[in-house]
Amino acid sequence: MPPRKLAAGNWKMNGTLASLAEVETLMRDCASAEVDILICPPATLLHPMAERVGRGPVAVGGQDCHAKESGAHTGDISAEQLRDAGASHVIVGHSERRADHGETDAAVAAKAVAAHRAGIVSVICVGETEAQRDAGETLDVIARQLADSVPGCATAANTVVAYEPVWAIGTGRTPTGEQIAEVHAAMRKALVARFPDGAGFRLLYGGSVKPSNAAEIFAIADVDGALVGGASLKASDFGPIVKAL
Ligand code: PEP
Repeated sequence: MPPRKLAAGNWKMNGTLASLAEVETLMRDCASAEVDILICPPATLLHPMAERVGRGPVAVGGQDCHAKESGAHTGDISAEQLRDAGASHVIVGHSERRADHGETDAAVAAKAVAAHRAGIVSVICVGETEAQRDAGETLDVIARQLADSVPGCATAANTVVAYEPVWAIGTGRTPTGEQIAEVHAAMRKALVARFPDGAGFRLLYGGSVKPSNAAEIFAIADVDGALVGGASLKASDFGPIVKAL
């Protein structure tokens, strides 16, 4: 059976308490959607959002976590604290974290292990830069990131993998259907070779997904959903994306 679809929204450093109204609209609009919905708001909104969504169709996740459970790490948040605030998922290895904070594949893997230790699902991001794609290195880069960022304790239940070409994030540009299919097929093959339940891992595509291109992207083999940035901020954009799944 193919994995259940997942529409995940990454609000990045956007949103205030007033933005919680968007989630309420989304819950109303997508009450009958037969897919999983996840919103990863900034840390300040995790707990109030978790309280609003309750047991409804929308899950809440963090955007990053520290590898340790607690300690002297000013400004960081542990996976256990995310869970305590109501998160069931956490994004790790987003390209903005890799670029802005120098996160290596090993650091990303340690964060994913921390998520699993805390009992939450890691959403592990991989993706090539434009220079790497132009140099014909895409599949090698993805293979290396997958091998080194996805820890050995990953299972289909505790891990989601998101393919996010760095050059497609926030740019309005998307790979062709063939390019997405090629990477997703390679990721599936690598996961099946490494994990007994590799066929069940959910593989998300992320990078400039919008209501206008969602259905076309979701029709591609081995695309089990999307990780959406800008278009997840408004229910009027994210709702149609969820419904296209
Ligand atoms: C992202 O940052 O994860 C992302 C996919 O952003 P956008 O949808 O805005 O391209």
